[in-house]
Amino acid sequence: MSKNKSSESVKVVVRCRPLSRKEESNGPAGGIVQMDLRLGQVILRNPRAPPSEPQKTFTFDAVYDANSKQRELYDESVRPLIDSVLGGFNGTIFAYGQTGTGKTYTMQGAWLDPERRGVIPNAFDHIFTHISRSQSDKQYLVRASYLEIYREEIRDLLDPNHGNARALELRENPETGVYVQDLTSCVCKSIKEIEEVMNVGNQARAVGATDMNEHSSRSHALFLITVECSQPGPDGRKHIRVGRLNLVDLAGSERQTKTGVQGERLKEAAKINLSLSALGNVISALADGRSGHVPYRDSKLTRLLQDSLGGNAKTVMVATLGPAPQHYDETLTTLRYANRAKNIQNQPRVNEDPKDALLREFQREIARLRAQLNHRKWRSKQKSEQVEDESWDGDQEKEIEDEEDEEVEKEGEDYVKLEEQRLESEKEAIRGDQDLMADEKQKLLGEKERMMVDLRKEQEATEQLTAKYKAMESKLLVGGKNIIDHTNEQQKMLEIKRQEIAEQTRKEREIQQQVLIQDEETLELRETFTSLQQEVEAKTKKLKKLYAKLQAIKVEIKDVNDEHVRSRQELEQTQNELTRELKFKYLIIENFIPPEEKNKIMNRLVFDPEEDQWKFQSLVPAESKSSQMKKRPASAVGYKRPISQYARVAIAMGGHSRYRAENIMFLELDMTPPNTASVDRSKDAEPNQSPSVDSSPTKEKGVRKSQSWCQTPKSMTSSPSNVSLAACHSATTAAAHGRLTDFSVRPTAGTQTHHHHLC
Ligand code: ADP
Ligand code: MG
Repeated sequence: MSKNKSSESVKVVVRCRPLSRKEESNGPAGGIVQMDLRLGQVILRNPRAPPSEPQKTFTFDAVYDANSKQRELYDESVRPLIDSVLGGFNGTIFAYGQTGTGKTYTMQGAWLDPERRGVIPNAFDHIFTHISRSQSDKQYLVRASYLEIYREEIRDLLDPNHGNARALELRENPETGVYVQDLTSCVCKSIKEIEEVMNVGNQARAVGATDMNEHSSRSHALFLITVECSQPGPDGRKHIRVGRLNLVDLAGSERQTKTGVQGERLKEAAKINLSLSALGNVISALADGRSGHVPYRDSKLTRLLQDSLGGNAKTVMVATLGPAPQHYDETLTTLRYANRAKNIQNQPRVNEDPKDALLREFQREIARLRAQLNHRKWRSKQKSEQVEDESWDGDQEKEIEDEEDEEVEKEGEDYVKLEEQRLESEKEAIRGDQDLMADEKQKLLGEKERMMVDLRKEQEATEQLTAKYKAMESKLLVGGKNIIDHTNEQQKMLEIKRQEIAEQTRKEREIQQQVLIQDEETLELRETFTSLQQEVEAKTKKLKKLYAKLQAIKVEIKDVNDEHVRSRQELEQTQNELTRELKFKYLIIENFIPPEEKNKIMNRLVFDPEEDQWKFQSLVPAESKSSQMKKRPASAVGYKRPISQYARVAIAMGGHSRYRAENIMFLELDMTPPNTASVDRSKDAEPNQSPSVDSSPTKEKGVRKSQSWCQTPKSMTSSPSNVSLAACHSATTAAAHGRLTDFSVRPTAGTQTHHHHLC
């Protein structure tokens, strides 16, 4: 990358729209904005101030009054920037101003009226005309993207399902800077195509917006054009230059009213303001030059425009004004904002051979496809010549490569036709051959049939490849070839003359401005006074002038102070609202969310600075998943499920039956003899019951019962004795065989029927 470290300031131009009919009818006051086109000055009159108060004057790179034409603004202030982009610089144009002052008019204008086409359509014309008139050793690739930032979310306007697509993320690449991940980008071959892209985006922007004006005043629209140009350098290799152009229609700069709005609306207002106030802060920080930190990261907009403000891009800011007296405050704010932006220094440099150039990829792919195609054609040609019993000359492959594509294609088609005819005639011959056996005939015919199918398949594959190759190649624009320039010589001359005039006006203005500055400085040096009287007069005049200046500056200081106080009050108000909301949330958390739940949530939260959001950490870290899964959760040590302290005590005490069921899953068996059995037996001694059951050795060895029910002899006795003796018998016999272990741990235990089963 070539590094040209010369810096240049952001160009700032101001445009004032005519009074609208409504404003005209409001009163005879007229406009409050006057312009000196020759000097590039804006003179603002305060409609509320006494006439003695001096008017405010601001000087810019150029000013455009109500009578200005779109073309004038383009030729004087935008054309040089687009030329730079075509030469491989990054460029940005942004329109800044209150809603209704003509940002969209300046950027887009009325597309259908050639007189009122704005910066964007004129830039399209400019870019494609430039390509059509450039030398044929240049190859171009033009891409366009369109996005909007609304409530600090980036939306892709070219995404077909724009409505429900999720917001896009910003990423940073050390090579190319900040970019939008997954942003749709359309390769455009002509003015018509790029206009279509713009239309699609504009429609997507309007969809879902209940009021387009309202929506556009609250969102920023960015149209991005990337122009890649490849040209053979002196070293014989192709070099690629990439110019990126950002065309930005900002949200209305007026203060969003925050009085009386709450909750979501308040947050929305705060977010809408965020990008613009961040832009203001960035401009202030850059213009100031002293503060080292520039808060680019505060908003999506400033991150995207990072290159354009204090970076490596060339930037033009168009500040738009309305002339109506009722908007005096906003107009003044806009002028101050624009005035500050003048001081920003950029270091533009050409992007040469960047790694991410798409053009390079296209060239490689086209070369690959071309080689594949040539190989195929060479093969078919070889075959056809073999058929004609001609010997193949190795040089012919090269020959084909040099031939015009169409010729080769035609030859390929001819070959296919010939082959088909040959196979047909062979088939006929086989059919007509009397000497051949019937099944042999069939076999031969089948073979020929297969050959025909193969041939067709191959032809199809070649056609597909050709189509792909052509599609790829058509996307690359070759200088002076793909787009036909319809303008005739006379028109061209006219255009060039117009550009020269624009250039002339620009230079004149610059000189005028410089003269003005120098005049003030050197006037006194040149002055020689012949008499004391004259000196007094001159000095008085000068004093008056300086006094007026002093007054103007004093008023300015007061204004700035007032504005500062106002914005501070507004910020305080926002802060109060937000604090109120925060307190409300705390109240809910403290009263309705258990502390341990809150802690659990708090422990899982992490802040993602990239997305500026709190996020839930996944419960199981991705890398240690396997080892984590092996461990049992701490809450369940010794228990099947978490048990409260109270429940544990209750179990130990053997108290309330509610807690008895807690540990029915215990596998240890109770060693104490089941006294229920003896109670039951004492009631109705069964003759077939073995008397030795109680003292059976098996039982002493380890037949146990679950602890949860074994100590409840009382309930046993009162239970209904609806259990069959057979069951009791089988249970005891099973116990005798040492199988009772299975029986006693049945998890459904806990009801008295089961106790009896075990007796
Ligand atoms: P913004 O985008 O700043 O909200 P618009 O571009 O929508 O403002 O302009 C508001 C109205 O003013 C539109 O009807 C537009 O045609 C008109 N307008 C703006 N600037 C000019 C101008 N320089 N000449 C004539 N009409 C203008
Ligand atoms: Mg607009």
